[in-house]
Amino acid sequence: MADAQLLCPGCGGALTSAGYTERCKACDGAWIGEDALVGILQERASTRVFLPWQPREAKPGEGGRACAVCKQPLAPVALGTIALDRCAEHGVWFDAKELAALLAEAKQFATDPQDRNNDGVVDEKDERGSFLDALARLFKR
Ligand SMILES: [Zn+2]
Ligand SMILES: [Zn+2]
Repeated sequence: MADAQLLCPGCGGALTSAGYTERCKACDGAWIGEDALVGILQERASTRVFLPWQPREAKPGEGGRACAVCKQPLAPVALGTIALDRCAEHGVWFDAKELAALLAEAKQFATDPQDRNNDGVVDEKDERGSFLDALARLFKR
């Protein structure tokens, strides 16, 4: 696999190895195998992580992206608030800045309950919202 030329799912340019990732110099995106991604996030979060992949709607103008390895169409997925494209077999595509954004949120994917808010995709505002909802329900009538 290492010697096969990988092509950028974003712009079709050649990807070049950069540490754990394969980078596109043209559009600054990054391709990462899922095992490597989990490794990077675990390093960043200093704990074990679990990636709660969610299907998402493709954005307008998006689509036609192909896996860098097998060239099958990538599935639109989301991790927390970050929209990504994924081949379940081969890896995940990050547009420019998406990888940095995901790393900044690494902690929210921690499997250790002490490091984790609720189900890992809830931000503080939502949590406060559901708390208020629960209160409202309690005090109804
Ligand atoms: Zn590219
Ligand atoms: Zn693939």
